[in-house]
Amino acid sequence: VSILTELGLHEEDLHWQDLAACKNLAIRYVDEDGQEQVFDPLFENYENDSEPYVVRTSMDEVCFTCPVQKICYDYGVHNKETGVYGGLFLTNGRVDKQRNNHKNPEAWKRVHERVGKL
Ligand code: SF4
Repeated sequence: VSILTELGLHEEDLHWQDLAACKNLAIRYVDEDGQEQVFDPLFENYENDSEPYVVRTSMDEVCFTCPVQKICYDYGVHNKETGVYGGLFLTNGRVDKQRNNHKNPEAWKRVHERVGKL
């Protein structure tokens, strides 16, 4: 049995997002009005400017375990996205220095090793 079959995936319609480490981080719940809601604590809070260091560094760690980190980064740059792509906060497809200022030299080294030249 192939690993894709085990994961319920089919090669012909497999997208890189299917392998994303962040894919199942979101918490789904039904609110008091019976509406399904999605709470994605890491992404929503990372992308919230006021969020503390621990959330951003935790999300970075998720990206460092992600098998599609470079593909994700390239996608964000190519499509001029804003948000977390490949473990970096991008604004209009460019690495946002202010939103990545929680990264220490070791984290930047890991980014360069996994994503390449920025
Ligand atoms: S690199 Fe990070 S943001 Fe991109 S798919 Fe992987 S876990 Fe998600």
